[in-house]
Amino acid sequence: FLPHLVASLEQVEETYIMVKPDGVQRGLVGEIISRFEKKGFKLTGLKLFQCPRDLAEEHYKDLKSKSFFPKLIEYILSGPVVCMAWEGVGVVASARKLIGSTDPLQAEPGTIRGDLAVQTGRNVVHGSDSPENGKREIALWFKEGEVCQWTSAQAPWLRE
Ligand code: UDP
Ligand code: MG
Repeated sequence: FLPHLVASLEQVEETYIMVKPDGVQRGLVGEIISRFEKKGFKLTGLKLFQCPRDLAEEHYKDLKSKSFFPKLIEYILSGPVVCMAWEGVGVVASARKLIGSTDPLQAEPGTIRGDLAVQTGRNVVHGSDSPENGKREIALWFKEGEVCQWTSAQAPWLRE
């Protein structure tokens, strides 16, 4: 009975979460980190970073043809961002739910964007949209040695 599906549900994933420059400027870094911490995911990478243009463009390369691409890049370069790597079973899809819809006015109350933002162009946070992109983006934003593998003391209290 679909054993491959059950196995994939148990797969530990990684996601790249980033507090965008508006989130940093508005003092929302602690609030945003806290939501992922309290949920029960494991932080494996964290840094404040003023990103170079080529990195921002590479990160959003799938959106290169969109009319909003130049403004998006200026937004991401407009101040430091907080780069994070988070790990856990189901973390990619769950983080997207915690973040909420791209347009903060459509995002449900209780989500980060639903609670803390009002416009798509200032939606305070990024989260990877697939496990593959999670790995790709963490490799893009973090150097060798910046991501930390550790065992959380909470692990047996979070998963049976
Ligand atoms: N964005 C925008 N205008 C749009 C769509 C997207 O400025 O019409 C920006 C917004 O900051 C968004 C980012 O581009 O978070 C990436 O877009 P995507 O569709 O991947 O949304 P996300 O995955 O961040 O929800
Ligand atoms: Mg996206």
